[in-house]
Amino acid sequence: MRIRYLPETLINQIAAGEVVERPSAALKELVENSIDAGAAQIQIDIQSGGKSLMVISDDGDGMSAQELAAAVDRHATSKLPDDDLLNIKNLGFRGEALASIAAVSRLKIQTREKGGEAYEITVEAGRKSEIKPSSHPRGTRIEVRDLFYATPARLKFLKTERAEFMAIKDTIQRLAMAYPHVAFSLTHDGTKSLNLPVTLDPKARLAAILGREFGENAIDINAQREGFSLSGFAGLPTLHRGTAQYQYLFVNGRSVKDKLITGCVRAAYMDVLHRGRHPMVALFLTVPSELVDVNVHPAKAEVRFQDPALVRGLIISALKHAIHEHGFETSSTVSTQALGAMRSSYSPSLPLSRGSAPAVQPSYYRGGSPASAAYGNLAEAQSMMYEPEPTARYEQYEEAPPAPNEEQQSYPLGAARAQIHENYIVAQTPEGMVLVDQHAAHERLVYERFKAQVAESGVEKQGLLTPEIIEMDEDSISNILTHQSVFAKLGLELEPFGQGALSVQSVPALLGGKADIKKLIHDIADDIAEHGNADMLEEKLNEILSTMACHGSVRSGRRMNGDEMNALLREMEKTPLSGQCNHGRPTYIHLSLKEIEKLFGRR
Ligand code: ADP
Ligand code: MG
Repeated sequence: MRIRYLPETLINQIAAGEVVERPSAALKELVENSIDAGAAQIQIDIQSGGKSLMVISDDGDGMSAQELAAAVDRHATSKLPDDDLLNIKNLGFRGEALASIAAVSRLKIQTREKGGEAYEITVEAGRKSEIKPSSHPRGTRIEVRDLFYATPARLKFLKTERAEFMAIKDTIQRLAMAYPHVAFSLTHDGTKSLNLPVTLDPKARLAAILGREFGENAIDINAQREGFSLSGFAGLPTLHRGTAQYQYLFVNGRSVKDKLITGCVRAAYMDVLHRGRHPMVALFLTVPSELVDVNVHPAKAEVRFQDPALVRGLIISALKHAIHEHGFETSSTVSTQALGAMRSSYSPSLPLSRGSAPAVQPSYYRGGSPASAAYGNLAEAQSMMYEPEPTARYEQYEEAPPAPNEEQQSYPLGAARAQIHENYIVAQTPEGMVLVDQHAAHERLVYERFKAQVAESGVEKQGLLTPEIIEMDEDSISNILTHQSVFAKLGLELEPFGQGALSVQSVPALLGGKADIKKLIHDIADDIAEHGNADMLEEKLNEILSTMACHGSVRSGRRMNGDEMNALLREMEKTPLSGQCNHGRPTYIHLSLKEIEKLFGRR
């Protein structure tokens, strides 16, 4: 017979490859065990990225001597009492983690259950010691030395200590987000890396991990549907990031990387964020355990929903609702950034003898810093306002609007006082001032009007007296013509016009004859090319509407009188999502009088 049964240690080493592929994965299993054991405090100490030593101490339930002996065996678990894989209430359920870790490392467990004695066991590359009496308070301490020493191949594939530790920290942060009532501390090579006290406020825990900015600029999410519930926090659209890495998703207390949910987040923010920018969110989905399969991934990082459409609907509608409700707000980071830029552009002229070098290179002036680059227009505005020859560049509205009365000021965006550089409206509010980017704001207003029209009846069109003939390459033409009917609905009537040309018969009336039609059609062709095929009609539709809105809005450089400016402010206040333009840039910045006074050292 050529077939033989593999020895137990080898089986465990093979399994270990799946369950614990790197130190952070092993640690995740151990910390999950502590959470399952009802710990209130979990202390984690790591040496050299987890490669040489990881120690996890908890004050949970602990184990008896017999339980301890069984715990390190494969497929031994206390967590699946009725053998029902469809009813998983704990983080663990396979009874594999301790056996896998023990198979590839030097493991020592000390434990004591309530009212019992303390015991310890050691396992080296799968070889178990006797159970011995030990000394330990109630709870469990697990020491993992020389992880993967027994499987040199795996050891070779580990990344640098720093990289492994980053993965460990991320793992702990994710667990800590989901369990705010558990205290976590993490040290690396003796240096404290995380210290999270118990809190009853989930937002406080998130802010402790994701930063104060997230705490201040995240909207509460709370929605229920058919036994499913979604809670957590979603960042305002103007608090965006360059990667989707700051989207934390949890299903029944488990951090998951789920394409379905990430897709939902993207869809919900689609309208308020430029592609390439990503919102920050921490979302906790609670699902009846029999309607989700958590046993589909070795590291339990993925789940399968029985009814994905229900989940999708719940998440998208909850997020969209929240974004709309707060659509007028911009993140406080926007004004903090503005103030930061003003302060630092002022500092180079401070006497250097004060001992402080200028905080920022002069290039910051020109909006060249990475922080301000994210807000192209804003940075430009600031740099222009603070360039050296103020009088020459300052241009006030010929006849300054009269000082506002109380009623005018009481609007959220205040009363318009001046237009500067023919694009920025300065308005006065009771507590400070508002600076509005008129182009960005108008773009959003036109876009929202387009959407409302489409929802109602299709966009109103305006026929052209002489059709506009547009020459373009055959690919773009055929791309556009495949969607002819969609465009017709948007008020854009297009026909083929011989070789290499299109004729435009009508344009959306909202564009009001102002738009450069040729450029608009070319931009739309680019949109389509970028999008690929047209499965997601809605996504494409909004993209096109957004492009049209951009063409139809007041360009920067148009002068407005006081009434026009105030009308724009009032319309912004009633328009959904007007806190950001279609690309997610803020449309206005609010500076409080307090902050302004601080700038001038008056406080
Ligand atoms: P699982 O978590 O899937 O049950 P593990 O191999 O991770 O499998 O753990 C095996 C068993 O050991 C657990 O079911 C639990 O009873 C016990 N155990 C592990 N870690 C702890 C701990 N920190 N405190 C108390 N019991 C623990
Ligand atoms: Mg476990």
